[in-house]
Amino acid sequence: PKGGQGNVVSGLRGGFVPPFVRKAVNALGGQDTSKGDNPMSAKMLQLLAGPDGELPESLQKFDPALIDMVCNEVLDEGAAVDWEDIAGQDAAKQLIQEIVVWPMMNPTLFMGARAPPKGILLFGPPGTGKTLLGKAIASNIKATFFNISASSLTSKWIGEGEKMVRTLFAVAEFMQPSVIFIDEIDSILSARKSEGEHEASRRLKTELLVQMEGCNPNSLSRRILLVGATNRPEELDEAARRRMPKQLYIPLPCEPARKEMILRQLGAVKSVLSQEDVQKVVQKTDGYSGADMRNLIQEALQGPVREAVRQHGSKIATLSESDLRPVGKRDFQMAAKAQKPSVAPCEVTRYEVYNAKHGAKY
Ligand code: ADP
Repeated sequence: PKGGQGNVVSGLRGGFVPPFVRKAVNALGGQDTSKGDNPMSAKMLQLLAGPDGELPESLQKFDPALIDMVCNEVLDEGAAVDWEDIAGQDAAKQLIQEIVVWPMMNPTLFMGARAPPKGILLFGPPGTGKTLLGKAIASNIKATFFNISASSLTSKWIGEGEKMVRTLFAVAEFMQPSVIFIDEIDSILSARKSEGEHEASRRLKTELLVQMEGCNPNSLSRRILLVGATNRPEELDEAARRRMPKQLYIPLPCEPARKEMILRQLGAVKSVLSQEDVQKVVQKTDGYSGADMRNLIQEALQGPVREAVRQHGSKIATLSESDLRPVGKRDFQMAAKAQKPSVAPCEVTRYEVYNAKHGAKY
């Protein structure tokens, strides 16, 4: 057959179609749901199957199509993140290392009363490095990193969310140690009973709480740490808070962090910014998130390129770095017009109030 599992499987296994792949094809109604060649099954094979091409026993009772989605859409195999890649957030980095990284590195020291929490919650405005922190934890302890947004569980897999959660934790257990990062976790674990709350979303919430309860970051059997992230920590219910007893505020970047972002992103690019110019940008970007900073600097770096294109017209394909003028403060002034801070000051106040009441002290 052209495309789909046929190609991948025969490519890898010389025509042999492992039984679970056949099951996956059947579960998908015999259709290839991927784009073009089906990399999903190849990945599933590579990650989970034994030498006999069979799924491990612990996963055999799960829907192969869902396992496939976990492997392809939730498992994050991107580049490792070092603590130094995250500008600022020093206090959070320190606390995270103490409460979750150390215990996973030396479980015997952290038994009983020193046992780590099953999960931690990172709260704060969007674009401040919560995902980066989750990934840095995983990279640091050489854990598999799963990254899923709760809204995709509630919307994309309508009715399947509960099964998806069960499958995700089962795959994470097989690939342990694992870190499962769930963004917008409030949308599942909300205390609010929305009117007409769906039976499916109630079941999804129960399932996630049950799975979280079963996590044991420093055990040998279920070394899974859950990292929840939210912009609306007020929404979480009691049961969620109990499972994520440490709630860490991840605020907007402070001055030194913004300076670090600018200097790092300017990197090897030619620039004529004096120290005072950089300091000016640092001051002017009070209220910018990390993501806003990244966009602002990118926009500024685009200034010399735009100018060169205007001058050289159609020669864009042959332009090189040496044809560009250095980046200057005017580029940042222009960029600041395009990139405004995305977080309103009143939002920051809301986080600070919440932090004073519930945030982990450090
Ligand atoms: P969040 O999960 O808090 O919404 P992310 O971790 O996804 O935010 O950050 C989005 C992007 O913004 C990152 O990929 C990175 O480019 C930039 N960024 C945000 N915070 C930082 C930071 N503290 N240090 C370096 N880059 C950051």
